[in-house]
Amino acid sequence: MREMNTRLLLNVIRDDGLVSHSDIRQKTQLSAGAVTSIVRELKDRNLIKEVGPGISSKGRKPTLLQFNSEARYVISAGIFADETRIAVMDLGSNVKKQIKFRTEVEKGPDAVFANFAQQTLQLIKDVRIPKEKFLGVGIGFEGVIDSKSGSLVLSSQFGWRNVPIKEKIEAGLGISTFVDSEGAVTALGEYRNGAGRGHDDVVVMLVDAGIGGVDIFQGRIRKGSHHMAGEVGHTRMVPDGETCRCGRTGCLETVAAGWAIVQRVREAINRGENSRISDEIHSPSTRRAVGAVFQAGREGDELATAVIRQAGEYLGKAVAAIINYADPEIIILSGCVADEGQEMLMGIIRKSVAENVLDSEIRTIHIEQGTLGRSAVLIGAASLVCEEAFKLPISF
Ligand SMILES: [Zn+2]
Repeated sequence: MREMNTRLLLNVIRDDGLVSHSDIRQKTQLSAGAVTSIVRELKDRNLIKEVGPGISSKGRKPTLLQFNSEARYVISAGIFADETRIAVMDLGSNVKKQIKFRTEVEKGPDAVFANFAQQTLQLIKDVRIPKEKFLGVGIGFEGVIDSKSGSLVLSSQFGWRNVPIKEKIEAGLGISTFVDSEGAVTALGEYRNGAGRGHDDVVVMLVDAGIGGVDIFQGRIRKGSHHMAGEVGHTRMVPDGETCRCGRTGCLETVAAGWAIVQRVREAINRGENSRISDEIHSPSTRRAVGAVFQAGREGDELATAVIRQAGEYLGKAVAAIINYADPEIIILSGCVADEGQEMLMGIIRKSVAENVLDSEIRTIHIEQGTLGRSAVLIGAASLVCEEAFKLPISF
């Protein structure tokens, strides 16, 4: 019981920023004596701290309490086919130090995870924080992940299947590890700290090199029975459409994913179509090439505008289908296409949604661009660890 109340109280302080004793009593329904005693314990454990007096209209000014975000730390990482990023973060999602390096997929899983462990141990040494102060390692991985076992089911980008990621990293590092897909952790990041903050029922649609959706309801991600929920990118939208990277034709990805936007434009240029799109369109980085298309679109280039319009209209149809099915409070569009497209793309999407969704006066759905950009992965990976750590009983 005491542990449960301690957890409740700590989470109130963690979620609300600054709170007084009476705020805590109100929110937890605990007695004044219980609050005082637990607060003392949490202060002794260095998990919360007092930060000066607050404002009161009458009488004594209350002491305000704040979560001590530097009480513990987490390692958060994004492992993608092209690069790996690892950060040391405090519990307030502040980055202490971050590194990135080439993943070297071609060397195989054992070498990749051994290198990951080695780089992480070096990073921990560099920030001079004792290893026991780390609550865990959170990882967003580019592939289909069974988050319960922390294993990779399959990844077409890596060309791997059935790799026990959690097991391999824990063996190399000796720190508890939590793994989920890149999409799931990006969505978690936006839900916790980005555009989804304050909403209970959120869909995050990743419009990146590929396209996927993540449905979060009251903090829980709907994973599906085969860890494959949200594969909206491979819904057939265009009859007799182009070939998709999944081998079928006319998928949403073939008109709206980063790879397809870039491919459509390159094909048109090769056919000799007139365009002012910069040479960045040939960049090996999808993000940069997509950026070049939107830049030209904003300058009125016809080819860019046509490709962007088509992408936006189909994305709007997909978003409308998601709204019709899931009825969320907010749909957040994240990933490089959403980031680079900004208001130009959002405008086309919102218009297309309005034309395609079942209209209702009782419904207000926000369609917003994500606010965290690429840092969403690291913030989301960190919250994988925190969510586990702040469950009952608190293990630190
Ligand atoms: Zn497909």
